[in-house]
Amino acid sequence: MHGQIINQIKVVLVGTTHPGNIGAAARAMKTMGLQRLELVNPKSFPDEEATALAAGADDVLDKAVIHRELREAVRDCVQVFGTSARQRNISWPVLTPAQAARQVAGFYNASAQIAIVFGRESSGLTNEELELCSNMISIPSNPSFSSLNLAASVQIICYEIYKELREDANGVADIKMNVPLVTTAELERLYEHLEECMMDIGFYNPEKPRLLMRRLRCLFNRAQLDQNEYNILRGILAAAQQAARAEKG
Ligand code: SAH
Repeated sequence: MHGQIINQIKVVLVGTTHPGNIGAAARAMKTMGLQRLELVNPKSFPDEEATALAAGADDVLDKAVIHRELREAVRDCVQVFGTSARQRNISWPVLTPAQAARQVAGFYNASAQIAIVFGRESSGLTNEELELCSNMISIPSNPSFSSLNLAASVQIICYEIYKELREDANGVADIKMNVPLVTTAELERLYEHLEECMMDIGFYNPEKPRLLMRRLRCLFNRAQLDQNEYNILRGILAAAQQAARAEKG
């Protein structure tokens, strides 16, 4: 049973510069029973250094999927966890690795895809990439030296997930999702529709379009919409647009 959820979890490394970190991350994953590694724009892969540091987790490297942008990697995911050492000016829900692992365990019965996204060694994840994330995970650390090595972060988060799934074999089985959650690709369509509708009804502020959409994304990320709720919202937007157009026409 656990094998199932473990295959639903992918670790996504964005813009990794040092191939050794990719190998060490693969090793970290395999020790914790995870095997789905996806790479967004790695600087060098495959690479001897990655293979050397994988230390026997070559199978994880061999199966690694490569994408050009994060959007592609998380399209099919209903839950996208971003990771960051830094606090940003807009608040995403920030979880500890243990809290995130608890949420992941809640997907036990579903076929939903889950992604955990790690950033660049030098600069982490961009704001645009963070906007694709439904939650943030921050590993509690020294406030004046808070940035861990990439593969060390992968290890800690995968360990918490492994522990949660192992210990909670019975406890999580009672959490059932009757209606599937929306995927990232569907959420992107909702945001486009929302933007369009806000223009039609004269709500859109062209001076600060970015911040408004970022705040709305944050709201919907917290809400964890399911398919029914998504359909209702799309329906309301369509009706509002129709009313606005009828009035103008
Ligand atoms: N200077 C970068 C640090 C990136 S460290 C920054 O300020 O964002 C590389 C990656 O390791 C991060 O993008 C994140 O995925 C992970 N990471 C490092 N420290 C972390 C922490 N304390 N909590 C969660 N993830 C962390």
